[in-house]
Amino acid sequence: MNKTIICSTCGTQFLANPGVPEFCPICTDDRQYVPESGQLWTETIELKNRNIKITQLNEQLYALKITPEFAIAQRALLLVSPNGNILWDCIPYLDKPTIDFINNLGGLKAIAFSHPHYYSNMNDWASEFDCPIYIHQNDAEWVPFKTRHTRLWDGNSMQLWDGINIVHIGGHFAGSCVLHVPELTTKGAMLCGDTFNIGRSKQHIAIMYSYPNIIMLPRDEFEKAYKKASHIDFDTIYGAFENQDIEGNAKEIFETSMQRYKDSYAL
Ligand SMILES: [Zn+2]
Ligand SMILES: [Zn+2]
Repeated sequence: MNKTIICSTCGTQFLANPGVPEFCPICTDDRQYVPESGQLWTETIELKNRNIKITQLNEQLYALKITPEFAIAQRALLLVSPNGNILWDCIPYLDKPTIDFINNLGGLKAIAFSHPHYYSNMNDWASEFDCPIYIHQNDAEWVPFKTRHTRLWDGNSMQLWDGINIVHIGGHFAGSCVLHVPELTTKGAMLCGDTFNIGRSKQHIAIMYSYPNIIMLPRDEFEKAYKKASHIDFDTIYGAFENQDIEGNAKEIFETSMQRYKDSYAL
């Protein structure tokens, strides 16, 4: 078993041998930040005073979040589906109650990612549930270390099962994706990670190069991402953070939000 270490700011796990890395590449990238106190690392054992809160969002969908909050404090989404359950994005901790909860629902058939900010301790999860990890090839450079579970895929979409697709969008990262689940709601649901970010009002959906540093996407990157997303049918969107749920009229809000960008970029 490789010795590993977790970045305390973004929650990404790296190999710690032969030594602990000097900096976390995710945090030194201009989409994230190194805290003023400097680079901090933590061992998995130090997370053991935390729990994973599980919230049901939909008949087939659960949100998993570390409590008290740690690092970026995103949630992972557990999609329960007849032909196999999928974990969408990850959180940097895994405990026995969560393993039991997931196994009682049939385990995991796949872990799929929106982008590198949520890789977390993905290899621990994949090893526990013995399932593949699907990452878009365009983000290959961000994978901290590959294992026998790592599957890089290329192209516009990757079909899983039960009509579920990982769809490549780009924008925030070159390999940014969304998970499209047609059967989850009447007209389908989009699980968007950070590929899109749902505003506090739930009346605006953002797309940016960096959310914490508030950096816009270049015009052509926005246009390419919008064109890819505009083909997806959905009425519901589930984002990367707690309460980032728009149910029923998500497509309308998506289109009015994207229109603001199109007007700003003069498209
Ligand atoms: Zn980091
Ligand atoms: Zn992100």
